[in-house]
Amino acid sequence: MQRFQYYIGGEFLDGEARFQSIDPATGDVWAEMPEAREADVDRAVDAAEKALYEGPWAKLTATQRGKLLYRLADLVAANARKLAELETLDTGKIIRETSAQIAYVADYYRYYAGIADKIEGSYLPIDKPDMDVWLRREPVGVVAMVVPWNSQLFLSAVKIGPALAAGCTMVVKASEDGPAPLLEFARLVHEAGFPAGVVNIITGFGPSCGAVLGRHPKVAHIAFTGGPETARHVIRNSAENLASTSLELGGKSPFIVFADADLESAANAQVAGIFAATGQSCVAGSRLIVEASVKDAFLSILKRKAEAIRIGSPLDMATEVGPLATKRQQDHVAALLEKSIASGARRITGGQKPDGVGYYFPPTILDCDGVNSPSLAEEFFGPVLSVVSFESEAEALRLANDTRYGLASGVFTQNLTRAHRLMKGIRAGVVWVNTYRAVSPIAPFGGFGLSGHGREGGLAAALDYTRTKTIWLRTSDDPIPDPFVMR
Ligand code: NAD
Repeated sequence: MQRFQYYIGGEFLDGEARFQSIDPATGDVWAEMPEAREADVDRAVDAAEKALYEGPWAKLTATQRGKLLYRLADLVAANARKLAELETLDTGKIIRETSAQIAYVADYYRYYAGIADKIEGSYLPIDKPDMDVWLRREPVGVVAMVVPWNSQLFLSAVKIGPALAAGCTMVVKASEDGPAPLLEFARLVHEAGFPAGVVNIITGFGPSCGAVLGRHPKVAHIAFTGGPETARHVIRNSAENLASTSLELGGKSPFIVFADADLESAANAQVAGIFAATGQSCVAGSRLIVEASVKDAFLSILKRKAEAIRIGSPLDMATEVGPLATKRQQDHVAALLEKSIASGARRITGGQKPDGVGYYFPPTILDCDGVNSPSLAEEFFGPVLSVVSFESEAEALRLANDTRYGLASGVFTQNLTRAHRLMKGIRAGVVWVNTYRAVSPIAPFGGFGLSGHGREGGLAAALDYTRTKTIWLRTSDDPIPDPFVMR
């Protein structure tokens, strides 16, 4: 059995306790993980604080920080295969997806390497004589980063990259479900030569590790990705230290298909949008909103494609859908599906939890027309698509916005003016037109409503890890007059 360690203050350690990690494809224990509790969290935050104020990190130029980030990017690229295999083993995400995604993670680090020496302050044209006033941009401080199990290397890169570019130090808490890839990534941080304590990577459970980290008095900012219910705890925890927060949460994203769309192309995007990563994707296009006149035609293409999907071992390059990450997730998907069918939703395909080992669930499509199905409101975070139809553009927009979430959306139409109206009308952080699920380090990403606040990606994300300091410098050599002598 493999044993992993965590990374605190530049050292690899065993931790206070240990827990077992399960291979979701078999349900068997495959590795042992270190479990951080209060004392380890304290140690990690202390190391980050020391690195921020006392270590060599604070004295590095921004260009030197950038060079370390470039080195890290190269190491991620060189080790992508190994990291991908670990992520696949520990979370069940198929190797086809993990290898492509991790190779791209290197580009995120490269992008932020280039940003490091482009974070500029400013000079203010102040309304007083003999005074120079400018703003310095300084790192916000020690950052706590908490991520869920899916795509941990990606979800942490969009935090670690900009935070390092900005000069912050950090404690990253990997999810207790599938922490192996992030713990292995720590070895690359070490090899890249970041000073001890700049990046600390631990894992542990929500209440005994994540919450302790979030309310730690030395934490200045919490960058969280996960579900809205946990995010409420994160905000409560942040109140302890009045830390700022950025929250990347779940979604119930609409995928709108008009009758004039290229249906074959839209169906491919929809299949990727809901069944990729076995539906465990925050941007999953989980609500199909299709024009009534093409509903049957579109569903028949989708059904054919969904039934042709190759389900199998996540380590096999030919596999298209692997298991869900945990038994808990499999049970959640099955229970929400049962509730939805009980409410009147009709099964078009899938829906049966297969017999045998592993936490598999087949691609499933539910017709929810005329039904108040919970599947239209609640996040499965699994391979289940809910379908409703519309007669007019106004109805399509109303249905798209009929959610408390607002992460992503897709619009498929050949009508340019209609596409523009929908871009403006949809209340979500991302609108994809005639495409879906595209991301880039250059493009900001984040949600509205229950999908959270703050943006990851782009230059603005690096600025979010800074705060300004206002400097006033009097440039006159004349002595300051006595304030109590009348003139
Ligand atoms: P979760 O909210 O249960 O857990 C996320 C992380 O929070 C884990 O590391 C967990 O240990 C930690 N945690 C749990 N309780 C905590 C507490 N009280 N204080 C601090 N940390 C705590 O999420 P999950 O079920 O692991 O992941 C699925 C959710 O993540 C879905 O809602 C999904 O949409 C969302 N997600 C969002 C994005 C995005 O970028 N918007 C990306 C991926 C996943």
